[in-house]
Amino acid sequence: MTQPNSTRPDLSRGRSYLAIPGPSVMPDRVLNAMHRAAPNIYAGDLTEMVAAMWPDLRAVAGTTQHVAAYIGNGHAAWEAANANLFSRGDLALVLATGRFGIGWAESARAMGVEVEVMDFGTRDPVDMARVEARLREDRAGRIKAVMTTHVDTSSSILTDIPALRAAMDAAGHPALLCVDCIASLGCDEYHMDAWGIDLTVAASQKGLMTPPGMSFLWFSEKARAAGVDADLRTPYWDWRKRSEPEEFWQYWAGTAPTHHLFGLREALAMLHEEGMARVWARHEVLARTVWAAFDAWGMGHPRIGLNVAEPKYRSRAVTAARLGAPDATRLRDWTEAQGGVTLGIGLGMALPSDPAWHGFLRVAHMGHVNAHMTLGALAVMEAGMCALDIPHGPGALDAAAKVIAAG
Ligand SMILES: *Cc1c(COP(=O)(O)O)cnc(C)c1O
Repeated sequence: MTQPNSTRPDLSRGRSYLAIPGPSVMPDRVLNAMHRAAPNIYAGDLTEMVAAMWPDLRAVAGTTQHVAAYIGNGHAAWEAANANLFSRGDLALVLATGRFGIGWAESARAMGVEVEVMDFGTRDPVDMARVEARLREDRAGRIKAVMTTHVDTSSSILTDIPALRAAMDAAGHPALLCVDCIASLGCDEYHMDAWGIDLTVAASQKGLMTPPGMSFLWFSEKARAAGVDADLRTPYWDWRKRSEPEEFWQYWAGTAPTHHLFGLREALAMLHEEGMARVWARHEVLARTVWAAFDAWGMGHPRIGLNVAEPKYRSRAVTAARLGAPDATRLRDWTEAQGGVTLGIGLGMALPSDPAWHGFLRVAHMGHVNAHMTLGALAVMEAGMCALDIPHGPGALDAAAKVIAAG
């Protein structure tokens, strides 16, 4: 065995913490559930388990309506949604508050949908008055769907979906309301049916605590009916058989994602044991813990700060922040190498070729995360700022601990 030639302690040893906004931390219960022999995909445990878990899958999205599952990541789910809703030349209105809203728009446009993007930038929430005015203008009802992110993971902006529903209703517009909840499902409060949403998109690897590789569409009866003639639909993406299979293979249009399903079964059980209201409350406290630390670090140091000014428009799943270039990259490198904590890169705030890119980072607090993980990540960040001589305000860890103490 080669001996390291330094006696400097390696403080990254121990269990690492991937605090990036997806994939998220996988619970041991999920990992253990996946550790088994290949199951029969025609009968037996797996087929019975899926039938029994689909109600729980609906419940996390707050719906009793249709659900279709895909073997694919979030990008796949975007395409699945586009394929089932639209025909070539249909008009979609996309409300973007960061990279992911733009991504869904690009995916729909590339498939032949006419896409109008209302871009609210990377720091401000959707302006509902502008949306309402645009919908009122559309007297012919050409806009078939309004599509947005619940949380745009790049900016960590939270869209007020009930306010969007109210704006659409005020305009008297019949468009479908379609929401990308890939980052937020199981983290930020969400009620698909109660909030009048027609389509919810999510993936397995964020709040659902399961490895990347599965994604889901929950859709209303109105969305199903609106998409009946969609000419972008192809057999693989077709949500009809997937949501109402006569045979087990039709859930997936082929072989089931066997081990993902065992993992997902356990993740859903964990969410339901905790209770969705308490899951959201936990994320709320952990998010506020992170915000409190950044507020303290930024005191007297305006280069450090949260991306989103108003708490109402901040995600409870992920926090985007600035630290000034190149200190965000220096800090991320340090926390990973010296503390075993991997923080998220800044996304969509500057081009990777721009030196300013090194001024942004994200801290995820999504999924299987608790007080010691969030406090630990913040403490390692503070240690890194000290080690790297990054000037910052005092009292961040004290402020963070007080949020946890208040619960
Ligand atoms: C992660 C994410 C995506 C993309 O998901 P992939 O699994 O990486 O394809 C899309 N939208 C949002 C809001 C996300 O957080």
